[in-house]
Amino acid sequence: MPRRAGRHFLQIPGPTNVPDRVLRAIDFPTMDHRGPDFAELGKGVIAGMKRVFKSTRGEVVIYPASGTGAWEAALVNTLSPGERVLMSETGHFAALWQKLAARLGLEVEFIPGDWRRGADPEAIEKRLRADGEKRIKAVCVVHNETSTGVVSRIPDVRRAIDATGHPALFMVDTISSLASIDYRHDEWRVDVTVAGSQKGLMLPPGLSFNCISSNALAASKTARLPRSYWAWDEMLAHGKGGYFPYTPATNLLYGLRESLAMLLEEEGLDAVFARHQRHGEATRRAVRAWGLEVLALDPREYSGSLTAVMTPAGHDADRVRKVILDAFDMSLGTGLGKLGGKVFRIGHLGDFNDLALMGTLAGVEMGLELAGVPVKAEGVQAAMEYLSDCAKAPARQAA
Ligand SMILES: *Cc1c(COP(=O)(O)O)cnc(C)c1O
Repeated sequence: MPRRAGRHFLQIPGPTNVPDRVLRAIDFPTMDHRGPDFAELGKGVIAGMKRVFKSTRGEVVIYPASGTGAWEAALVNTLSPGERVLMSETGHFAALWQKLAARLGLEVEFIPGDWRRGADPEAIEKRLRADGEKRIKAVCVVHNETSTGVVSRIPDVRRAIDATGHPALFMVDTISSLASIDYRHDEWRVDVTVAGSQKGLMLPPGLSFNCISSNALAASKTARLPRSYWAWDEMLAHGKGGYFPYTPATNLLYGLRESLAMLLEEEGLDAVFARHQRHGEATRRAVRAWGLEVLALDPREYSGSLTAVMTPAGHDADRVRKVILDAFDMSLGTGLGKLGGKVFRIGHLGDFNDLALMGTLAGVEMGLELAGVPVKAEGVQAAMEYLSDCAKAPARQAA
C-alpha cells in the first residue's frame, strides 16, 4: 500500500477519533492495579463518570469490555431465567440487544418499528397496561440508535411507564449518545444505563459502563441469571476503594481520566452537547441541499452524533463509501442489517470541530458526484452558511 499523506478521516459513528492528548495519556507505564497509587485513579474515573451520567447518586461500574458486555451485565445482574423484557425495534442495535437477551434465556417482547423512528412511548404504555400480571420485568430502549441516527425520547418513555404505574425496571443503551447528546440518568429515573468508551468519550474501544439505580441494585439481590465476570456486587465492593475485582484496562483508564478532564472541566458537557447539535443540523442541511433524504423522520428525534443518509434507488450506498475511501481516504459508516446498501452514515461525534465537519462533507459531496449519484453540489455551501451563522451569534454576544 502506498503511503497516504495526512490524516485518515474516520467518520464512522464509533469508534471515533481519539484526541492526541488521550493517546499520550494512554502511552504511560502500566501501574500495579493493586498498589496504593491505583486507588486515586480508580476513584477519580468513577467519580468523573458519575458526573457524565449527570451527577448521579447511583453506582457506576467500569468493565474492561466492549459495549456489548455492558448490555449483558445490565440484564444478568437484574433478571431471572424466563423473565420477560419489553424492547423496541428501533434499528440494528436494538435487534442485537434483543438477540442477546433471548440467548440469555429471557423472553423478549419486541415492539416492531420501521427503523426510521425512535421507541414509541404510546406503544410501550399500551403493552404495560395490558400486562396485568406484571410479567414484564424490564423495559429496554436504545437512546441513540447508531444504525439509523434516531434518538428515542427517553423522558417520554419514562412518563409512559409512570402513567401505567408498572414496576418494570427501565434500561437505556447510551453507547453512542453519552457525552454527545444530553442524557440524565437520575432525572429520567433510568435504572440501568449502558455506555461504552469508543464514541462520545473519545477513547479507543475497550471500556464499558453500567450506571445503576437503587431499584436496580435491589433487583440484583434476588436476580437468578448466572453471572460472575459481570457481577455488580464484587465490582461495587472493590470500587468503593477505587479498585477492581480483576485486572482493569489500566491504560484505558489513564485515557478516561484525560477525556473526563476535557469533557467536564475544559469544554463542559453543555457545550459538548451544543456542538454535536450544531454539527447534526449542519449535516442535515447539507444532505437536503444535495437533494438526498435523511433516514430519521421525526425532527424531535434527530441525532447530534450521526446522520444516516439514504441513497436514491439504484445507487448502492456501499459503493459510494468505497469511492470515498479510495479517492479521499475517509471511512463512513455502512448500512447495518436491513439498511445494507441503502444508507451510509456520517459520524459527527467525539473529538470534532466545524472545519473537520466541512472536510467530511466536502469528501461526501465529491464522492457522491464521483460515484455518479445525481446530487446538487450545494451541500457544503449550505452547511458552511449555517456554521458561519452559528459562529456569528456568540461573536455578537461577546461584542
Ligand atoms: C456501538 C454500539 C453498540 C455496540 O457496542 P460494542 O462496543 O460494539 O460492543 C451497542 N449499542 C449502540 C447504540 C452502539 O452505538
